Amino acid sequence: MSKKYIKIETQANVENLAPIRLCLSTFLSNLNIHVDELVDIKTAISEAVSNAIDHAYDDESGKIIATGEVDENAIQITIQDFGKGIEDISLAMTPTFTTKAEEEHAGMGFTIMESFMDEVIVDSKVDEGTTITLTRRIRERISNYK
Ligand code: ATP
Ligand code: MG
Repeated sequence: MSKKYIKIETQANVENLAPIRLCLSTFLSNLNIHVDELVDIKTAISEAVSNAIDHAYDDESGKIIATGEVDENAIQITIQDFGKGIEDISLAMTPTFTTKAEEEHAGMGFTIMESFMDEVIVDSKVDEGTTITLTRRIRERISNYK
C-alpha cells in the first residue's frame, strides 16, 4: 500500500478545533482500525490542536497546518503553528506544568498525548513556531484494508 495523506490549513482559533479534528478523524476512519484506537488518536489530536490555539498566538489570525499520513504500519499526525514557540520543551512536557494556570489549564496536554500515542516529538523554536509529530503504530485491522 502506498502512503496516503491529508493536509489542512486554517486559522488558530477555537472554532477550528472541531473542523480539524473531524477532517483528520474522517481520514483515519477509512483505515479499518479499532474504534478505541481511533478514540485515543483523536484525543491526542485535540490536545495538540488546542495547544496551538491556546498558546501559540496572541490573536486569532495565526496559522495552523495539520497533516495526517498513513502507511501499512503507522499513522502520523503533525500539528504545526508559526507562533511564539516553546522555550524549554522538556519543562513544557512535564506533567502539570502550564504557563496558563490562571485560565484553568491543568498542564496535562503533553502527558495525554504521550499516553495515547507511541511517539510524541516536539520541535519548537522561540518566535518561529512549534511542530508536534504524533505517531501511532497500527496494531491490527478490523477487516482487509487495501
Ligand atoms: P492543558 O493542556 O491541560 O489545558 P496546558 O496546555 O498548559 O494545559 P500542555 O498542553 O501540557 O498544558 O502544555 C504545556 C505548556 O507548553 C503550555 O502551558 C504552554 O506554555 C506550552 N505550549 C504547548 N504547546 C504550545 C505551542 N503550540 N506554542 C507555544 N507554547 C506551547
Ligand atoms: Mg494543552
